[in-house]
Amino acid sequence: MTDAHPTTIADTRSALLDRKVSAVDITRASLAAIDRLNPSLNAATQVFHDAALQRAAQLDARIADRRAAPLPLLGATIALKDNICLDSAYGDARTTCASRTLEHYRSPFTASAVQRLIDAGAIIVAKTNLDEFAMGSSTEHSIFGPTRNPFDRTRVCGGSSGGSACAVAAGMAAAALGSDTGGSIRQPAGWCNLFALKPTYGRVSRYGLVAYASSLDQIGPFARCVADTALLTSAICGHDPADSTSAGLPSPDLTSDLDRPIDKLVLGVPRQARSAANHPAVTAALDAAIKTFSHLGAVVIDIDLPHAEHGIAAYYIIATAEASSNLARFDGIRYGHRAELAPSDDLFDLYARSRAEGLGPEVQRRIMLGTHVLSSGYYDAYYNTALKARRLIKRDFDDAFAGTARAASRPSHACHAVLMPTSPGPAFALGERSSDPMSMYLEDIYTVGVNLAGLPAITIPAGFHRDGASNLPIGLQLIGPALAEGELTRIARMFELATSHSSIRPALA
Ligand code: GLN
Repeated sequence: MTDAHPTTIADTRSALLDRKVSAVDITRASLAAIDRLNPSLNAATQVFHDAALQRAAQLDARIADRRAAPLPLLGATIALKDNICLDSAYGDARTTCASRTLEHYRSPFTASAVQRLIDAGAIIVAKTNLDEFAMGSSTEHSIFGPTRNPFDRTRVCGGSSGGSACAVAAGMAAAALGSDTGGSIRQPAGWCNLFALKPTYGRVSRYGLVAYASSLDQIGPFARCVADTALLTSAICGHDPADSTSAGLPSPDLTSDLDRPIDKLVLGVPRQARSAANHPAVTAALDAAIKTFSHLGAVVIDIDLPHAEHGIAAYYIIATAEASSNLARFDGIRYGHRAELAPSDDLFDLYARSRAEGLGPEVQRRIMLGTHVLSSGYYDAYYNTALKARRLIKRDFDDAFAGTARAASRPSHACHAVLMPTSPGPAFALGERSSDPMSMYLEDIYTVGVNLAGLPAITIPAGFHRDGASNLPIGLQLIGPALAEGELTRIARMFELATSHSSIRPALA
């Protein structure tokens, strides 16, 4: 093989072990793609030229030493969302969260999920752009400026992990990590024609992920095929004593069984997935996917998620409440940008000025919303009510998986997974929603319920909307019961084999 950029992580590993290519070649190809494409796409916020090549040379030396056991992710080039800590000893890495307040922050340690990838043979090539502190759906609220969609550079790539999605879609890295608090992995994956998995809450350690809303945040992978998604998920899952919410379960092997189709597959399609607010191309992609799965022998049934309509309200109360508490640490003393002091200033002035200068307008809006919903007098009306809605949203999903839905269209089957869109439309134009936060929040209508219920979900490429000269990807998501990452990747694999959507790459001059 002479190709320095083989298609899957497993192919890369075989090519390396067969000495058809070196890890240095693979890494050079990835860095060259970043150098060529990043000026126009703005996916990477920091590129680790020297550190990545050094790491690749170490891996090559390890391969040459035949006594060392071959690593599962050998030579996988990885881009990391810039709210995930990477030890600053690696290429002088910074962990900025795309915020002025952390612009110069050097983490003294590496996030557990990232360390697992490195230990498995991966090479970190870049940090990627995001909405400040992962608050957003478009990767436009960033001190680094917006990331552009590789399928149409006048459009957003989604968010908040837009830089990670863009980097993988554009071939700058084999795969990437992002974080998903209310859709930030699944939505940009859908708009960039990628597979991406949001694991069950607790499945992947959050140690080293800068907290946005701790009861919702999960790290997960972006990849161009299901096999890579399964490989990466297997690598990052597993118990971590450093995260008290991490499940005490061993890491699953999602790869060995991947090609075995699910027998007597049952998929539930919620009636809420056919909202009148959907772009027609989204509903068409959903109908086409239902046909594909039916041809594969699946039983596709209508279900009801009667409390889904409360998802956005509950999410934007719970997430902002947790954010207001989590972001209190960026006070200019313990962490973050510190303002210049005037002689008359007291400590309170220092906090207030540092935070006003260091945090962007969307982050300030969230902190104010969160502080309000937690304040005495409003706590019961907002925060407690949102927690109740969260329970009901979770119960709707539990009913679908148990076949006990209370709904009018009572399903007779227990669903293996729920199938629905990731977003109501394809990627929108840069700037289109910037002055209307509510329309931005409504983008998350199909994704937030999964986080509120703590469930795993995978985005699958499911078609395109042709708009003039551009071809805009449409993603769907498969949502499973807790810990069903194995079944979800197998269902996604069935779809990947039966369709050709995921093979379409952006045309990059
Ligand atoms: N768009 C959602 C928000 O702004 C989700 C973000 C995320 O998942 N990090 O909160």
